Amino acid sequence: MKKLRIAVIGYGGMGSYHFNQILPTERDLFELVGVYDLKADRQELAATAGLKTYKSQAELVNDAAIDCILIATPNDSHKEIAIAALQAGKHVVCEKPVTMNAQELREIMEVAKQCNKVFMVHQNRRWDPDYLIVKELVNSGEIGDIFQIESRVHGANGIPGDWRRVKKHGGGMLLDWGIHLLDQILWLVDSPLKNIEADFSYILGEECDDGYITYLTFENGLKVITEVGTTNYIKLPRWYLKGTKGTAEISDWDLSGKMVIATNAEVAAPKPIQAGVGLTKTMAPPSEEATVTQNLPKGVTLTQSFYQNFYDVVVKNAAPIVKNEEVLKVMELIDHIFDVVDKHS
Ligand code: NAD
Repeated sequence: MKKLRIAVIGYGGMGSYHFNQILPTERDLFELVGVYDLKADRQELAATAGLKTYKSQAELVNDAAIDCILIATPNDSHKEIAIAALQAGKHVVCEKPVTMNAQELREIMEVAKQCNKVFMVHQNRRWDPDYLIVKELVNSGEIGDIFQIESRVHGANGIPGDWRRVKKHGGGMLLDWGIHLLDQILWLVDSPLKNIEADFSYILGEECDDGYITYLTFENGLKVITEVGTTNYIKLPRWYLKGTKGTAEISDWDLSGKMVIATNAEVAAPKPIQAGVGLTKTMAPPSEEATVTQNLPKGVTLTQSFYQNFYDVVVKNAAPIVKNEEVLKVMELIDHIFDVVDKHS
């Protein structure tokens, strides 16, 4: 089988992760060729790993020995590099967020079409096991029809890195993590968006948002909260889902969590409990026979990894799992949040 020869532009945290962790699991499909990074120490690291180092972006994109290029540089440089790579006849994998806004992605898609080359965005969190459990919960009806989904990632380390704190480089948490959470939701929900509300946080005093919260309502009635925080010393659960028959929680990426499902058994009304200085029946726990607690489902895994799919798209003209039109919708949503919602906050 013909291997695709791949080189990376940007050999920082994520570029080296692709080359050292992800791509080595696909050795039958890809041959790792070389690297171009602006920083000398990253070039040296790549050379030590046995990779060819290029003196410039132009030298790399024009190397006839390469079939495809991975872009893993800060967000504001993706568009220019993607267009140069496509015009040089290379297929491209681009890190998320694909671009600074939807218009930049439209320009790349146009060039990819003209050059007849594959352009695919690494929306890798479509493969996250916690997300695949959520997909199964939504599709199986195990907790009934789901009417509310809450998706959160909470950290307490502030905005990491240098460029992630700088607006012109595409910094901030909506573009960094929000792109994942919103992509997961739009890939899950088969209904148009009806209403979008959002709120940004600037607690750390940076020029970019250090967190945000969105409230999305879909035409089918589903409500979704997505939230990213970088000043959360106590985390809320990664996922919290409310259905007509039960509630599910996935606490963290370790997949701990549970479902509590109504049994529909004839049961006595809950007994009132002392709550604070008051009495409540409404908030009393349901009687034991009224619910059953179950383990979460396993989640249905995708049949191909990101790179197996990219390979098949390039070599066998297969359908991409991450479609550019889907990513464009997410970028349009992010544009809307920045342009309409943030302006008014
Ligand atoms: P990083 O700062 O660790 O690495 C970026 C590297 O790019 C640096 O080594 C820098 O010197 C180099 N660079 C900058 N501009 C360049 C240019 N024009 N040409 C060549 N090299 C250049 O950043 P990172 O965390 O690796 O992020 C890189 C990209 O990967 C971002 O778009 C980020 O959002 C994305 N990312 C994705 C995931 C994911 O899970 N999909 C995770 C982390 C980062």
